[in-house]
Amino acid sequence: MTKAASAAAKDFAAAGVGGVHLAWADNNGIPRSRIVPVAGLADAATRGVGATSLFAVFDSHDSITYRHAGLGTPSGDVRLVPVVERLRRLAGQPALAWAPVRQLTRDGAPWPYCQRAVLEAQVAEGAKRGLEFRAGYELEFAVAPAGSLDVLTVPGHPGPAYSPHALVGLDGFVGALLHDFEANGLRIGQLHAEYGVAQLELSLAPTDPVSAADDQLLARQTIHAAARVHGLAVSFAPVIGLGAAGNGWHLHTSVRREGRHLLDGDGRPDGDGAGYLAGLLRDLPALTAITAPSVPSTLRLRPGYFAGAYTFWGVENREAPLRYVPGSALLGDGHANVELKTSDASANPYLALAVVLAAGMAGIEDAPALPEPIGEDPGGWPDEDREARGVRPLPANPAEQDAALVASPRIAGVLGDELLGAFRAVRASDAAWAAERTADEIIAAHLWRY
Ligand code: GLU
Ligand code: MG
Repeated sequence: MTKAASAAAKDFAAAGVGGVHLAWADNNGIPRSRIVPVAGLADAATRGVGATSLFAVFDSHDSITYRHAGLGTPSGDVRLVPVVERLRRLAGQPALAWAPVRQLTRDGAPWPYCQRAVLEAQVAEGAKRGLEFRAGYELEFAVAPAGSLDVLTVPGHPGPAYSPHALVGLDGFVGALLHDFEANGLRIGQLHAEYGVAQLELSLAPTDPVSAADDQLLARQTIHAAARVHGLAVSFAPVIGLGAAGNGWHLHTSVRREGRHLLDGDGRPDGDGAGYLAGLLRDLPALTAITAPSVPSTLRLRPGYFAGAYTFWGVENREAPLRYVPGSALLGDGHANVELKTSDASANPYLALAVVLAAGMAGIEDAPALPEPIGEDPGGWPDEDREARGVRPLPANPAEQDAALVASPRIAGVLGDELLGAFRAVRASDAAWAAERTADEIIAAHLWRY
């Protein structure tokens, strides 16, 4: 690895790159990094660079909570080791390169709080069972002129939704996104003006789960850099205003065994594919506590906003938190996938994928019954009808999120005791912060965090 890192450092230096962002995402989905000069890259790839272990207990507002006993004091150090095969020069920031890190103990063992390692463990568990996953994130975000306090006052595009005209004023930015994503080794599926105020969306092509999470992190860096060059600021926050459409970071997954695509089916999945989807549905409240974990996440998951507010699944139902996307003759083999809508930028992308894979694998194992799909928005149904179909509201506040997580040892266990303790401590710290504030204050404080 040192050899590869030395070679990369040499190439970077020749190309005028001065330093490398060693990046990860914390338990709030907030990216953090340390920059090493290119001359220090090989050493960092061998020994890592030091950082405080307290990053695992930073809350969404950069406060450190000491509620988790395992990280209850200011003492402790962790080594951040770049994943050399994921090194990229940043097209939008030519003096810098970027790599995701592994978080290791001082002895070089995986640190129990390393979210990337948690995802790697689930992928390995899948491989043991002969399962191979594909995943891809969709990113929705809102645009405003740089320096804006919010998005609603001076929206970065005027709409209409999905209109090519909406984006004319953002031509330079859109061009930079298309160029920089390609140059940074990221594949965009499509890009458009989304439904919400000043909203854009781009989807990332599916890949293996760890790369999908790495890509999601790199995509954010790439978007922020392109925005800055074009005088814009982007908000990835789950909500930008109470009445406005939220920013979902929907997570698409599919699973294969021995090359066979398990989610294929005649309009709905069957066999192991049905088990996978039923597994996600069974654990949806606990999953959502990880995949949409912040206080603003709970404000986003409202009925009628295509974000998912109840426990059900549907076939191409945009209101369903679990949307089954079938394959077809036109779309070809391997297209079928499940979209989790209750996912946003406040989730750690590695943890979000780890719990989704774990829930799906457990579903394949136990084959819980998959109820009938729902084609409508059950948010408009009388309570008795929802009750009769087993459609329940998703956790609506931090206490309900925590209860849902604890109620599923299958999901909570994915994190392991240490990381689970830190994650819950951080959520409790966020909840205490939010308890004294209005929804508008909460939204404002998260707008530019991700
Ligand atoms: N903006 C919606 C959300 O909060 C999603 C809209 C869509 O279906 O793409 O997730
Ligand atoms: Mg969308």
